[in-house]
Amino acid sequence: MSDKIVKTDAEWKASLTPEQYHVLRKKGTERAFSGAYYDHHEDGIYTCAACGQPLFDAQTKYESGTGWPSFYAPIHAAAVSESKDFSFLMVRTEVTCSRCGGHLGHVFDDGPQPTGLRYCLNSISLNFVGRNETPADESR
Ligand code: FE
Repeated sequence: MSDKIVKTDAEWKASLTPEQYHVLRKKGTERAFSGAYYDHHEDGIYTCAACGQPLFDAQTKYESGTGWPSFYAPIHAAAVSESKDFSFLMVRTEVTCSRCGGHLGHVFDDGPQPTGLRYCLNSISLNFVGRNETPADESR
């Protein structure tokens, strides 16, 4: 449903804030309890901050206590891509936007039912869109 978005490193740098670029393109992690969405409870959807693709529904968001916004499922299976991440002497599963490849966070298997998964995401990789608003397509 979504065409891939491919930009050069310089193009991403120009279209993102330095903080967004660090997380989305360099796989950084925002400090816990520092982001806009870990304690955010409005109803709506979370889109990719880099390309605007809808990624997670607020109805699957839950309080993980980690200081990062946490969800038990993506809005559609195809919205995200998952791959093994061996950095920092750990084996984790990285979660990226399937459309632009932007780094979102990681998924762990200690989440709540119905999936048992915890998508632990960076607020800065996301934009919130209220249920009755139209998401802005930021891809150009
Ligand atoms: Fe994206």
